[in-house]
Parts: sequence; C-alpha cells; structure tokens
Amino acid sequence: MERENAWKKYPAGKKRQAVMDYAEGYRKFLSECKTERECNDYFVKEALANGFKNLEDVIAGNKKLKAGDKVFLSNYGKGLAMFVIGKEPLEKGMNILGAHIDSPRMDLKQNPLYEDTDMALLDTHYYGGVKKYQWVTIPLALHGVIVKKDGTKVVVNVGDKPEDPVFGVSDLLIHLSADQLDKKGAKVIEGEQLDVLIGSIPLGEKDKKDEKVKEAVKANVLEILKKEYKIEEEDFLSAEIEVVPAGDARDYGFDRSMIMGYGHDDRVCAYPSFWAMVDTKAGDRTYACLLVDKEEIGSVGATGMESRFFENTVAELMNALGQYSELGVRRALANSKALSSDVSAAYDTNFASAFEKKNAAYFGRGLVFNKYTGARGKSGSNDASAEYVGEVRRIMDDAKVSFQTAELGKVDQGGGGTIAYILGNYGMRVIDSGVAVLNMHAPWEIISKVDLYEAYLGYIAFLKKA
Ligand SMILES: [Zn+2]
Repeated sequence: MERENAWKKYPAGKKRQAVMDYAEGYRKFLSECKTERECNDYFVKEALANGFKNLEDVIAGNKKLKAGDKVFLSNYGKGLAMFVIGKEPLEKGMNILGAHIDSPRMDLKQNPLYEDTDMALLDTHYYGGVKKYQWVTIPLALHGVIVKKDGTKVVVNVGDKPEDPVFGVSDLLIHLSADQLDKKGAKVIEGEQLDVLIGSIPLGEKDKKDEKVKEAVKANVLEILKKEYKIEEEDFLSAEIEVVPAGDARDYGFDRSMIMGYGHDDRVCAYPSFWAMVDTKAGDRTYACLLVDKEEIGSVGATGMESRFFENTVAELMNALGQYSELGVRRALANSKALSSDVSAAYDTNFASAFEKKNAAYFGRGLVFNKYTGARGKSGSNDASAEYVGEVRRIMDDAKVSFQTAELGKVDQGGGGTIAYILGNYGMRVIDSGVAVLNMHAPWEIISKVDLYEAYLGYIAFLKKA
C-alpha cells in the first residue's frame, strides 16, 4: 500500500509555485519565532489582523457572541485557543486542531552567570529530549524575557540579526578526546557541560571606582547588560531566557523541496493549523484551534495541555453565546472531533534499521496520521478508534489531500507521546496527525514543503467536513 509522492500533483509552474510560496511564508515565520512566546505574539497579531476578537475583551465587556464570530484567547502569552463560531449550538461539538509551540532547547538557570579563568559563562538546564552532543560548537542565540520586581518586562532577542554577536557551548578538541570518545553517546556531553560562553574582557580598574574588581569579566558583562537592558544580576531570578540555534531557516536541497530550521517540532503543525482557521469560512460546526506550550516536558502546568485552560475557555465561549451550562460544556467537549498534530519521524535512509518500512512516514507523501503513538506495547498512546480513522480517511480522500499512515519507528525501538490522549480524556474523538521531520529534536530539523502544504489542505478539509 505505497502512497503516491505528493509532488506529482504539483507540476512545475503555477501549481508548484503555490506550494513554494506557502512554504516561504512558513520559512519566515520559523526564522522569527523561536520561542513559545514569540509564536504566541505572531499568532495574536495575525489573528487580530484577520478579524478575530480577543475573548478577554468579550468577557470584560460582558459582550455577546453569535454564529460567524471569530475569537481567540491567549494563555499567559505562551499559547492560545481560537474559535470560529458555527451555526449549530456548541454542545453539538467542535472540530478542533491542536498543536504545540514549545521546542527543545536550553533554558538559563535562575542563577546562571559565573566566571571561570577569565571567561564569563551562563549555566543552563536543557528543556525536552535532546541529544546533548548536538548542541555544542554551533552558533546560539538568546531569546526570552526578564521580568523585574516592579513587573517591567525586558525582551531579550540577541544572536539572530546579522550584526548581533552569537554565543555557544564549546566541545573538547579531537586531539584530547580519547577518553570522551570511549563514552556512551548519552554521556559524551553531559547536562552540566552545556554552559554558554558569553564574554572574556575584564572590566578595567579605570571603569570602576573601587580599586580591585572581583570577577572582572563577569562584572564587565553585567555592565553591558545594565547599559543595554537596565537589569541587575538578581533580575535573572525572574527571567525566562531560552538558548536556541542562531540563524534563519533555509531552503534545503538543489530543488529547494525542503526547509531546514529550528523548531519544526511542532511549529510545522501549528502554523498550518492557525492559517487553516483563518482561511476557512464559518460553517455549521464551530472550529477550534489550540496551540499549547510545555508538550516537550509532559504537557504540564498552566500553559500545557493538561491545564483546564481549554475547558474554561469553552465555558466562557458558551456563556458569551448564551448557551452555558455545566452539562453543555461537557457535551461540547465530548461531541468534538480533533486532529492532534505533532511531528512524525521521517524515514531516514541513513538509519533504515530503526524503521519498519511499511509503517514509516516518508518525505513527500503528505499529512501523516498515527492511529497510535506510545512506546513498548503502545503505552501512553491515544489509540484512535477504527470508526474515527475511517471518517478521517474519507474526508482526506474526498478533498484529494495526500496522506500516509505511520508509527514512530520499529516496535520497541523507543517511542514518544503527544497531547492527543489529553483531549481524548474529554471523550472526544481524536487522532494523532502531523508532518514528517528528519533530525527531530536536533538544533536543525528538516521538513518537506509539500508535506507542509498537504497538512494545510488537510486541516481545512477537516474543519469543513468533520
Ligand atoms: Zn517533540
């Protein structure tokens, strides 16, 4: 049951150009938005520009909503829910697109700054599943916020503009690596070695009135931070600074059929989900899109999928529609259908033995559906029902969307989880779907442009027809 290569639907000329143009918009988004906060801000800005109202204003003004209205609500600036209200009462259920906007990276510790042998460094704690050895010797950027005691927020974004400096984690030279190279891969670089080098000039005695400056290189960095951001060392205590790969996402391959970039997981699903919401006219059922944080560390906390944010937002929405009741909210959630989107492992010819070829995802074969994910006997997986998979197949085939089905690698090779089962807890029908990625969780991941485009078309078909 081999699936056709989706590029064949787009011969060179206008048709192929549409795929390339769509991917170019995504490439720019991916280059600019490297944190969940930056993704949230981009989506909020575009939602407002495309006729979505802020649900916060609706709630504050006790305003009413009606069919055809479009609203969104941001969750602490790290994720959002969007709705396009349909004609049917909400308790009949929604068609929901879900994806996450956090990506693996290194976060600065709360006390990050130190000096050693006339070098200033920032200590980090990695976030999500990473092969630590991949994060050394590459240019890195710092993105995030520092919040001062009075609530002032300082935005940090340095390392991505061509004139910016970059940062990085060093690796041991090959000449002295005899011991290092004997270690297991997971130990070649260890968590506490992921310290980012940020400076090496000592603060001169003339620069400071006190005669002897202790830790002069660190002091010099603090002087620069004070000048540039008006912050003190203590302000790191209330900061969220993410260390991410520096530089733009780029076209990949002679034929420019792919994109290499940081954070495809899972922005390659979040971006087309968002635009499918914007580009689909209101219908009978209500459309919803949920873009969440913290998936990479277990969907925990107020901004992760486990939080009550979505449920509460649906209750607010029903209230503004004059349809609120406790039972109504439960019915709305239980009667919903969802595509829970996350990236799939693309078949890698360099590592063929990790995959089972009949049930692998391939570049160029379209949107991926995983009936189940999980590890070791499907553990932790949302196993979509055969009935629901049948319905999704029909929707995709009717809309001529290229799709494929896959598992995450060979049985007992590993595995992974998504947010699907959490939506499933409400009793709604949900299936894992998404885009295939090569180098998943590496600093630079790769996707196929035509898969991105088919995902966008598939999401539109789902919103309209589920
Ligand atoms: Zn991931």
